[in-house]
Amino acid sequence: EQDASFERINPNILITGTPGTGKSTLSELVLESTGLCYINVNELVKEKGLHEGFDQEFQSYILDDDKVVDELEDAVSNGGNIVDYHSCDLFPERWFDLVLVLRTDITILYDRLEKRGYPQKKITENIDCEIFQVILEEARESYSSEIVIELQNNTIQDMESNASRIEQWVYNFKAQKNQ
Ligand code: ADP
Ligand code: MN
Repeated sequence: EQDASFERINPNILITGTPGTGKSTLSELVLESTGLCYINVNELVKEKGLHEGFDQEFQSYILDDDKVVDELEDAVSNGGNIVDYHSCDLFPERWFDLVLVLRTDITILYDRLEKRGYPQKKITENIDCEIFQVILEEARESYSSEIVIELQNNTIQDMESNASRIEQWVYNFKAQKNQ
């Protein structure tokens, strides 16, 4: 299979990380300045029913991975997207030019999840996920190590510096492809 990234003029970025690490907030912050399209996988799954039901215990949808990948294939192969999801091993490797894994200190993350009103079981599950760097390991196993970047996202300052970094990266990618 040909590497589709050679064809893309605009990059695809995956923003992943434990729920509450700030994926959606950061994505929305860089949308306008990068000119990329935003794909919030959770919202899409709800909207289009790309799931096998709702897990009451964890208060979350059980994804139908094949349906999600099929639904996104056309948009993503064209390039120019930010994909926001709290897991990353269901997507084809060829989709992404950059994989950002957001990280948050445990005490800060705990507060964010509590403020969301998550049930205790779901808070504990997500805190464990962050402690054991589950998403970072998953990203490293699923994508080439050169494109996986870990970003601390504890404060507003962190968020602004992460946003500038993304903007600069997108600018460089586009400049290279348009030479
Ligand atoms: P995710 O999409 O990863 O689940 P959100 O973007 O919804 O996370 O953010 C979770 C909560 O944390 C929101 O209330 C958001 O305002 C806050 N938040 C996100 N990023 C930061 C940050 N860098 N500093 C402080 N608060 C943040
Ligand atoms: Mn989100």
